[in-house]
Amino acid sequence: KQELSERVLNMATSATLAMAAKARELKAEGKDIIGLSLGEPDFNTPDFIKEAAKEAIDQNYNSYSPVDGYADLKAAIINKFQRDNKLTYTPNQIVVSTGAKQSLANVALAVINPGDEVILPAPYWVSYSDIVKIAEGVPVEVQTSIENDFKMTAEQLEAAITPKTKMIWYSSPCNPSGSVYSKEELESLAAVLRKHPNIVIVSDEIYEHINFGDGHTSIASIDGMFDRTVTVNGVSKAFAMTGWRIGYIGAPDWIARACNKMQGQITSGANCIAQRATITALEAPVSKIKYMIDKFHERRDLVLNLLGEIEGFQLNVPEGAFYVFPNISDFFGKTIKGKKIENASDFSLLLLEEANVATVTGEAFGNPNCIRISYAASEEELIEAIKRIKEVLS
Ligand code: PLP
Repeated sequence: KQELSERVLNMATSATLAMAAKARELKAEGKDIIGLSLGEPDFNTPDFIKEAAKEAIDQNYNSYSPVDGYADLKAAIINKFQRDNKLTYTPNQIVVSTGAKQSLANVALAVINPGDEVILPAPYWVSYSDIVKIAEGVPVEVQTSIENDFKMTAEQLEAAITPKTKMIWYSSPCNPSGSVYSKEELESLAAVLRKHPNIVIVSDEIYEHINFGDGHTSIASIDGMFDRTVTVNGVSKAFAMTGWRIGYIGAPDWIARACNKMQGQITSGANCIAQRATITALEAPVSKIKYMIDKFHERRDLVLNLLGEIEGFQLNVPEGAFYVFPNISDFFGKTIKGKKIENASDFSLLLLEEANVATVTGEAFGNPNCIRISYAASEEELIEAIKRIKEVLS
């Protein structure tokens, strides 16, 4: 009998991509849909990066690169880690991959054995739990609250650790909540982790530069954490390069080597032109991309102000990334436009069908009381979208 693997049958379809597909369907029917569901900057890749890619083509970069990335790209990554994060890596600790998503998948497949537990402070990025499950690990959600700005406390971490805990994964700035862990907060988590030296930390810092607050701390820079932390980053978000597919890690040598081995059997390494362009992106001063970050900051304030006027939306103040994650559980049990709202998925669907605004249900991120709204869209679209949402709910 022909049948698919349990692995793929048990996998969830990416909720963000599913919402985008549903929105496209309605658009094709002629509906004027405003898409606020995708995690993608609405800017073009900066010209200075595009030029580097064009040059790389003309210079005949067309062969397989080393599996873990070009040596000069790894050098640029090492300089970036030193410059921005005070982390000192050596070339054998760096692996370049086809997006941070592949970096995460490599780490999962390289480190997790069946039944190993991975602590995920919720809300977490959609793919974490499915990547962990593909590696036959067990995601262990730790529920945070809006009162605590959706951040896990040291006590919560301590309580979630069992003899089976292999890793903890988190993103800061966080997708979907926009929360940023301060140095002090990371120090308190590190104090717990010091008592459990075998737990590996995966720190996803892909939104590092999209930060409107007091700056960014890499947990690997905290005493005792460097040798057990995988620092994940990439160019998709801050450099508006989602389609170029470049991510990378700085990791303990034994993990980096295993990721290199894994990748050698699966992709043979990342796209060569995109790697060349990434050298230029990472060598540029951060001031060159500040115009995009400033725009995200303005839009965050705009969206918080406008959503704040809608009764029933509880909001934290996201310090980074480009999402707001309102708690909309006040609407549960109500009937709006003839539709009974029982959960965040119903609410998100209501906004799509009645306001023609695409958002993502918080269930996909491990929080069933919230929805995620991306503000990587123009001011006009954001204003119009929130006006429509307000009308539907009033
Ligand atoms: N990590 C987080 C928290 C993300 O939000 C995303 C993209 O949405 C990724 C990783 C994946 O990024 P990449 O495009 O580099 O695969």
